[in-house]
Amino acid sequence: MRSRNFKFRLLIGVAIALFFVVKRCSQQEVNPYTGRTQTISMSADKEIAIGLQSAPQMAQQYGGLHPNNQFQALVDNVGNKLVNNSIAKETPYQYEFHLLNDQNTINAFALPGGQIFITYALFSKLENEDQLAGVLGHEIGHVLGRHSAERIAETEYWQGLATAGSVGADIGDMVGSIGQNTLLTNGRGDELESDDLGVRFMIDAGYNPEEMIGVMEILKAAAGPNRVPEFQSTHPDPDNRIEKIQEAIKKYKNQ
Ligand SMILES: [Zn+2]
Repeated sequence: MRSRNFKFRLLIGVAIALFFVVKRCSQQEVNPYTGRTQTISMSADKEIAIGLQSAPQMAQQYGGLHPNNQFQALVDNVGNKLVNNSIAKETPYQYEFHLLNDQNTINAFALPGGQIFITYALFSKLENEDQLAGVLGHEIGHVLGRHSAERIAETEYWQGLATAGSVGADIGDMVGSIGQNTLLTNGRGDELESDDLGVRFMIDAGYNPEEMIGVMEILKAAAGPNRVPEFQSTHPDPDNRIEKIQEAIKKYKNQ
């Protein structure tokens, strides 16, 4: 009896796994702006809605919006210049740039659909407008690269497989942990793709792309001997990034 029950469960498990594998295949899309094939389970409209919905809460976590209108206007100007002079303008996304009041956390991030944030702690460390363009360009890259949507679709896939695994043979945890690693690996690729796109947008908008390297130096210095700023803890090592940024500058300058 026990053995028959096990075989039945295994069959159900395999069926569920197959369902998610087939579903994933049907979710493969080529990103028209990056040319990269990715797994996506939501529309651009849904991405925009998620971003708009989460934006106030994200801002709250970083001390709310910065009260200085002049600083905010500078962030808007640089962000809009990047969007209006690059392929970002051709996307369905609604870009909005927010300066956050947080004076201690060196960070910048993007929600899906175009909501982009930079903390005052990072903003105040930047030496010129080109470096601000570097940070914002990188974040526009995350939006256009649809990295959050891709992460969500991948998570759904691995959760589905984990379910299949736990039904089939109680190996759900194992499959789950493979999924986690995959997510982290994707994350690193996302950062490098965003750096590459950021350089491209900077050149398109007439900014000096070399200043993206200046941003990396600032991040490195801010890290100090022990402290790892948040922006960096979720991002690959700045030295690695500098190398890739130099390659991107060569690539796009010759186009
Ligand atoms: Zn990033």
